[in-house]
Amino acid sequence: MEIFEKIGDTIVSAGKDVTEKAKELSSVAKLKMDIRAKEDFVEKQYALIGKKYYEAHKDDDILDYEECNVIEEALSAISDMKTQLMNLKGAKKCPNCGAEVAEDASFCASCGTKLDDFFED
Ligand SMILES: [Zn+2]
Repeated sequence: MEIFEKIGDTIVSAGKDVTEKAKELSSVAKLKMDIRAKEDFVEKQYALIGKKYYEAHKDDDILDYEECNVIEEALSAISDMKTQLMNLKGAKKCPNCGAEVAEDASFCASCGTKLDDFFED
């Protein structure tokens, strides 16, 4: 009888170990997730600071950071690609506000400009 009690105790304590290990693991996983989330948050703040800096200094004659030039080039490339994309989709740009308008639209949904005057077929 005693041997079964001992086996029982061993199983119970092993079970406890497993539970503790699972708790530890989930604490580790949670901490890793929390750290990752905070790191992402900090990265976003860096990006925000960078964006503010760029907006404030993009027109300066001499830029402190080469990255500002690279950003300007990239933004220009993005703008070109967006125009290409709109052409592929058969959409046009409102000549007044720049909003994307359907090719057959008579008015700009954004500013209300009459488009027929601009786009003659
Ligand atoms: Zn418009």
